[in-house]
Amino acid sequence: MRYMEESKEIKLSGISASPGICIGKAYLVGREGVEVIKKYSIDGKDLDKEIKRFKSAVKKTKNELQGIIENSPEDFRQNANILETHALLLKDKMLYGSTIETIENERVNAEWALKMVVSKIRMMFEGMSDDYFRERGSDIVHVSDRIMRNLVGQEQVNIGEINKRVILVAHDLSPAQTSQIQLERIMGFITERGGKASHTGIIAQTLEIPAVLGLGKQIGIIQHDDIIIVDGSEGAVIVNPSDETLIRYEEKIEQYETHKANLTREAHLPAITLDNLTLNIMGNIELPEEVVSVLDYGGDGIGLYRTEFQYLSKPEFPTEMELFEKYKDVVDVMGNKPITIRTLDINGDKAISPPNGTVEINPALGLRAIRYCLKKPDIFITQLRAILRVAAYGNVRVLFPFISGVEEIREAKRLLCEAAESLHRDGVVFNKDFEVGVMIEVPSAVIVADILAKEVDYFSIGTNDLIQYSLAIDRGNFEVAHMYQPLHPAILRMLKHVSDIAQKNNIKIHMCGEMASEPLYVPLLLAMGFDELSMNPQSIPTVKRMVRSINLKDCKKFLKQVLKLSEISKINDLVHEKYGKLLLQKNNSG
Ligand code: PEP
Ligand code: MG
Repeated sequence: MRYMEESKEIKLSGISASPGICIGKAYLVGREGVEVIKKYSIDGKDLDKEIKRFKSAVKKTKNELQGIIENSPEDFRQNANILETHALLLKDKMLYGSTIETIENERVNAEWALKMVVSKIRMMFEGMSDDYFRERGSDIVHVSDRIMRNLVGQEQVNIGEINKRVILVAHDLSPAQTSQIQLERIMGFITERGGKASHTGIIAQTLEIPAVLGLGKQIGIIQHDDIIIVDGSEGAVIVNPSDETLIRYEEKIEQYETHKANLTREAHLPAITLDNLTLNIMGNIELPEEVVSVLDYGGDGIGLYRTEFQYLSKPEFPTEMELFEKYKDVVDVMGNKPITIRTLDINGDKAISPPNGTVEINPALGLRAIRYCLKKPDIFITQLRAILRVAAYGNVRVLFPFISGVEEIREAKRLLCEAAESLHRDGVVFNKDFEVGVMIEVPSAVIVADILAKEVDYFSIGTNDLIQYSLAIDRGNFEVAHMYQPLHPAILRMLKHVSDIAQKNNIKIHMCGEMASEPLYVPLLLAMGFDELSMNPQSIPTVKRMVRSINLKDCKKFLKQVLKLSEISKINDLVHEKYGKLLLQKNNSG
């Protein structure tokens, strides 16, 4: 039941993760910790029904906990013990008994009764000095959160099964969930957590749906079916918009569409500077279906094919044939344009769904990407064989992620040779004559770039991770999102260092992190000597337009000036001052 009250327009601000505007109904999915609970009274004759509703939410919670405990792996036992304690607390008199009493005595809805009881318990335990009791209090709060979710019916929804046109409102969406989004149903999404370069944000950009992330607790005021406006370009969300606001945003949508159409029209012009230097502008993809949009937006090839999404949300790992067929789909569309296939980068924030036996407390620094593949050579070789086979049909390159030292790249190359030999023995068609590169995304790789350069044909800088690890900023954490600064002098120096090393060693230097998609950074990257920039497909036209408006000589002078500055804000101001106007003029006239 929705508590009726005059709905007022409210503006929330978060992080702009994917541009565009949409207007539609909110669809709440799997929110953790239900913040806004409304009170309504219950007629005497309905009290039994209300108590039953509470009891069945408790029962459901018990079953959920039991399910989690039974499915937890051996070395997760300690956690399971906590859950067992939680299961016992479900019937705790202080929680269970008092909530039923409150429903009866105050004739209020179960959610409100539970909320009142929990806030009393919280106050009581918070005031205690004994750690044990404080811990006990927090257990009760956890348990009540679970009951509350079941009471208000906010269960984990299978996003792939949503069958109305809606805007998703979530606590967080995992990359696996985001990749289930069906474009004809989901108009956009907003989340409580998440930062700009989080994978969820990246997928939203690729899917071309507006998204605002990192809204924090304020997201709790949105209710199921509320009308909301998501302005992904501004990072704004408007709840219950007034008629005037709706009209204003309808106009904004039109302007945005015109701007996009203009950009797309010129997208196929090459990215050549005013002094005739060509930069390759490529697209990043997660799924083979996205290839078409890279071509539509004028991409010169695929600079990063994130292959892990074929491994997510599936009970089994894909077979060599399944992988080969997906890669072949990409090759068939791209013809002889280059396709950079990055080997599996799972775990980190793109966790695999089949239980892998261990739970990592800090997966971003754990057994992910190349570390995972070297530890599981069977899985790795299956993928390498599929890549080698598809290379016989197109212009394929391979890219190894998360390399932190020379041993890893040597071992990866050795396994690539082993995969080729096994294909040879099996008499299968393949090609091993392609470029091999490493991602520079771990700070140690920057420091030993001169050593790595001897092993590969190209570097591709993954700024999403490189910035995260160098500045110690979790790319999915909105609390520190403002510190995620690509123009930090440390980052600029690293980029310059790696590109100098690449040029000295005569290998190519590419960038495939999101930093490459910001047109204002292009002059600096051009001056450093980058050969290729790869980004989400929709950013290609704007970046190409920027390349066509600048010249190398000016950019080099500008880079020198920027490298002398020590403060991020000064660098930001200078970049905007010098190139911001250019972008604006072009946009308006475009
Ligand atoms: C990066 O880290 O910049 C990158 C391109 O890889 P991913 O975003 O998939 O980690
Ligand atoms: Mg990365």
